[in-house]
Amino acid sequence: MNSAFIYTSRFDDFSLGEYHPFKPYRGTMTFELCYRYGLLDASWIEVMEPAPVTEEVMLEYHLPRYVETLKDANSGSFDFTMLEYGLGTGDNPVFKGVFDFSLLVLGATILGAELLSEGKADMVFSPVGGLHHAGYDHAEGFCYVNDIVIAINRLLKSGMKKIVYVDIDAHHGNGVQDAFYDRDDVLFISLHQSGETLYPGTGFENETGEGRGVGYTVNIPLSEYTDDDIYVQAFESVYTPLVESFRPDCVVAQIGLDTLKKDPLTNLRLTNNGYSRVIEEIRKSCPKILALGGGGYSVSDVVRGWTLAWAIFNGLEPQDPYQGIISGNLVPFTQGPDELRDPPYHLAENIRRDLHEYIEKKLAFIRERVFPVHGIG
Ligand SMILES: [Zn+2]
Repeated sequence: MNSAFIYTSRFDDFSLGEYHPFKPYRGTMTFELCYRYGLLDASWIEVMEPAPVTEEVMLEYHLPRYVETLKDANSGSFDFTMLEYGLGTGDNPVFKGVFDFSLLVLGATILGAELLSEGKADMVFSPVGGLHHAGYDHAEGFCYVNDIVIAINRLLKSGMKKIVYVDIDAHHGNGVQDAFYDRDDVLFISLHQSGETLYPGTGFENETGEGRGVGYTVNIPLSEYTDDDIYVQAFESVYTPLVESFRPDCVVAQIGLDTLKKDPLTNLRLTNNGYSRVIEEIRKSCPKILALGGGGYSVSDVVRGWTLAWAIFNGLEPQDPYQGIISGNLVPFTQGPDELRDPPYHLAENIRRDLHEYIEKKLAFIRERVFPVHGIG
């Protein structure tokens, strides 16, 4: 196996604003934590530095007038015409370097796609990527450019025939769904907090694709308070049989970590133990994986979770060579690989019963409407 961690400290130069929840520096923090736990040392692992792409790459998916407007926004100064393209809102502020940042995000994700399509890597992780809400002609949901859509199109163009896109971010991957809604060569599977209670208000189970794409868009809306066990059960009962039947050439995974109990923007109740089980399932499902960071707003928890994900994708156990050396005399000793894992969390039985009923209805719908398309009885 060859594995690549896409990293550049240049992401740290960009800020959506001091109080904006999306922090590009999560990439550097994840890199540093992986380094600390010895997860970049293996002979098959390479750290690759991305460069910004040219504007033409952005134009492979986005509307030219949107790209022009995003370029105008690069100076950091806002004018009201930008609102037409979703720029200058609280979610998608105009900030200095917004265009450069978008070119760099694309550079990182496209580098990953190229390593996979050229056979130079089987597993790639780019923490600052996976901007699943960006639309063809607008920014939304902290996303300015849809690196996922462009990467999937590149993988298909390189000769791959079938791609699975799996999205475990707490929000529905609406931008990616829209791009491939009528396609049967991209199997889209998204688990997310229901659009009844969370942005972007889409991703209901009856959104299953159109035309030849019917049955190739799969949405699993989750109730608030969903915990590890309910989530993992839902994931395994849908993702695993579908991917086994579809047999993709590559899985593109948006592994957002705003599903965590401590996330300030969502209402799910996962720990990174449930998350790890899902990552393990993804890892087993295909020999080629492009993993992209996505969302996650309890920063230190996201970084711990992504570190675990990187370890799992590479079949490694985190090791801390400094354990016992750098803990001080005053600070209680808490550092060590165990610190990466959250304590278990389970719902009270009566709440769990209600949530179980809720998810069973969604799963029954998918078994009835989607599974037959894939010959699963
Ligand atoms: Zn999200």
